[in-house]
Amino acid sequence: MKRDSGRNREITKSWKPRTRAVRSGTWRSAHGETSEALFLTSGYSYDDAGVAAARFNGDADGMTYSRLQNPTVEMLEERIAMMEGAEACRAQASGMAAMTTALLCQLSQGDHVVAARAAFGSCRWLTDNLFPRFGIEATIVDSRDNAAWEAAIRPNTKVFFFETPANPTMDIVDMVHVCGLARAHGITSVVDNAFATNVLQRPLEFGADVVAYSATKMMDGQGRVLAGAVCCSDDFLNEYLLPFQRNTGPNLSPFSAWVVLKGLETLDLRIHRQSENALAVGKFLEARVERMLHPGLPSHPQHGLAMAQMDACGPIFAFEVAGGREQAHALLNGLQLIDISNNIGDSRSLLTHPATTTHHGVGEVGRAEMGISEGMLRFNVGLEDVEDIIADLDQALTRIGL
Ligand SMILES: *Cc1c(COP(=O)(O)O)cnc(C)c1O
Repeated sequence: MKRDSGRNREITKSWKPRTRAVRSGTWRSAHGETSEALFLTSGYSYDDAGVAAARFNGDADGMTYSRLQNPTVEMLEERIAMMEGAEACRAQASGMAAMTTALLCQLSQGDHVVAARAAFGSCRWLTDNLFPRFGIEATIVDSRDNAAWEAAIRPNTKVFFFETPANPTMDIVDMVHVCGLARAHGITSVVDNAFATNVLQRPLEFGADVVAYSATKMMDGQGRVLAGAVCCSDDFLNEYLLPFQRNTGPNLSPFSAWVVLKGLETLDLRIHRQSENALAVGKFLEARVERMLHPGLPSHPQHGLAMAQMDACGPIFAFEVAGGREQAHALLNGLQLIDISNNIGDSRSLLTHPATTTHHGVGEVGRAEMGISEGMLRFNVGLEDVEDIIADLDQALTRIGL
């Protein structure tokens, strides 16, 4: 029994979050390996034809094909579900596969979605470009404005979709209010929780229905693989998610699942240290830049709400330098330690200019509407010694006269 305790919810539900992150989902083979095994197989064989038939007609449990089940992927799904406090989780090939699956699995022609203005560029592409092609309408709102969510509701509104904190402006959504509003109207709220992860913020506790992840970010945390996940109830899983996923196939590879499993074991340590570093770097930068957008600092207009929803500020924040694009690029070009990179959630410190990279595709009008200025930079603060990170920023700022 001990060998499979990570698969037994009676046992794992008594575990604290840090224990769940290391042990939930572990499903050992007859060899009793300590680390999770990597099952790189697309298919399965059967002892006799009857076993195959029983698995296909649902009379027997067991694997049939890796688009439907894979032991390594299942270990990851069970671990994320237990960390999230969700009944179910299904891993996806990327964060965008997770967002697309979480939304399209439940939407049909004629439905209406209310989505947050500030969002990951590709999430906005879904609402602005993909949905209209299938007769799904979307209303975009300022996600900080509780009244705007309510005013956007129509009789055919099916989904609320938002990130909090949002990429890259760090807008915070009041989840108790917005998810409660959704519930009261029979609307499903889908929360993209990539920035905080379930270590810092568990949207289900604030009334969310579905939580979707880019596991490429903090969950892997070391910039190695693309991965995603959708957490939901058993009812949502069976009615919407599974039929869609099993037949469209946005599945995660067992190799990537294994990498993320290993990442989850250190997620708590990493995200708390990176949050500490991000707070120190934010305090340093605040005196040198035009504007800070940092949920961990009292200058953030929604600081109180952010800290009520999150256990720590997370590794990501944004700021603006005077002098627009030219100065923002000059600051990036003066860095010696911090990488110019559009990735986030990595153990390395990375700085990016959203207007010319991640949010280039939403266009000038879209960026203005989302509050992304030409002088804005988005920071992922890593695990390096914080004194080295600050020293690098100091020399790069001095070089451009800031
Ligand atoms: C990165 C990211 C995504 C997309 O994830 P991929 O793994 O790159 O597909 C979606 N939402 C947010 C908030 C992200 O940061």
